[in-house]
Amino acid sequence: MSRNPIIAGNWKMHKTPEESIKLANEIKRNTFKIEDVDIVLCPPFTSLTDVKDVIQDTNILLGAQNMSWKTEGAFTGEISSLMLKSAGCAYIIIGHSERRAYFGETNELVNKKLKTALTEGLLPIMCVGETLKEREAQKTFDVVSEHVHKGLAGIEGQDIIKVVIAYEPVWAIGTGKTATKEQAEEVHAFIRENLAKKYNSEIAEKVRIQYGGSVKPANIEELIKEKDIDGALVGGASLDAASFVEIIKGANKCYTPS
Ligand code: PEP
Repeated sequence: MSRNPIIAGNWKMHKTPEESIKLANEIKRNTFKIEDVDIVLCPPFTSLTDVKDVIQDTNILLGAQNMSWKTEGAFTGEISSLMLKSAGCAYIIIGHSERRAYFGETNELVNKKLKTALTEGLLPIMCVGETLKEREAQKTFDVVSEHVHKGLAGIEGQDIIKVVIAYEPVWAIGTGKTATKEQAEEVHAFIRENLAKKYNSEIAEKVRIQYGGSVKPANIEELIKEKDIDGALVGGASLDAASFVEIIKGANKCYTPS
């Protein structure tokens, strides 16, 4: 079973529209020959339509970093799935650890957002992962299992294959501390086993699970060579075109379609 790698850049709250256009252009210029890797750019809301214009007629896809679980209404400051689709988004990051930690997002809210995204035709990247405290207390598997099961509650087999799961150990995000390939693979394999139990092994084999946490050109290859690691969600290194392109090329180099 071969799953196309997916490399997504989460620009977080960085880049004005002008800076976003420049960064997207640099990435586009250097990735046009890459066909087997799904490349996703997730700029801030204010840059979505500008980046969409830059990447039209390329293989690069657009994603957003958050959305409301409501589709319309009096929800000041929120952005709906319909708006994101109309702005050109194919993907939506849901439940990033920064949203969970700073904006009170729970597994229940993540699940609601996931359902809205799937109903409205956006492809979710659902983030899961333990904090350092949880890892040190040997709770990694409990936390990840809870994120996966509660996040995917009520999601049917035909929909789960549209979901990308991003395993992002919180202690590795923005810290420069990457999980070792063994640590990452252990949790990725665990997530796939959970999917096999919840759905079946054929479905579990189709779901892409990407790793996130200080991914850089120097570590992408060893990570992506692992059996259950299907790509990366990249924060810091996606803000620099040269590093992000190297990460994409590293993933492309290690991928052999079967
Ligand atoms: C992220 O924001 O999802 C992330 C993994 O960040 P970084 O690559 O900077 O650790």
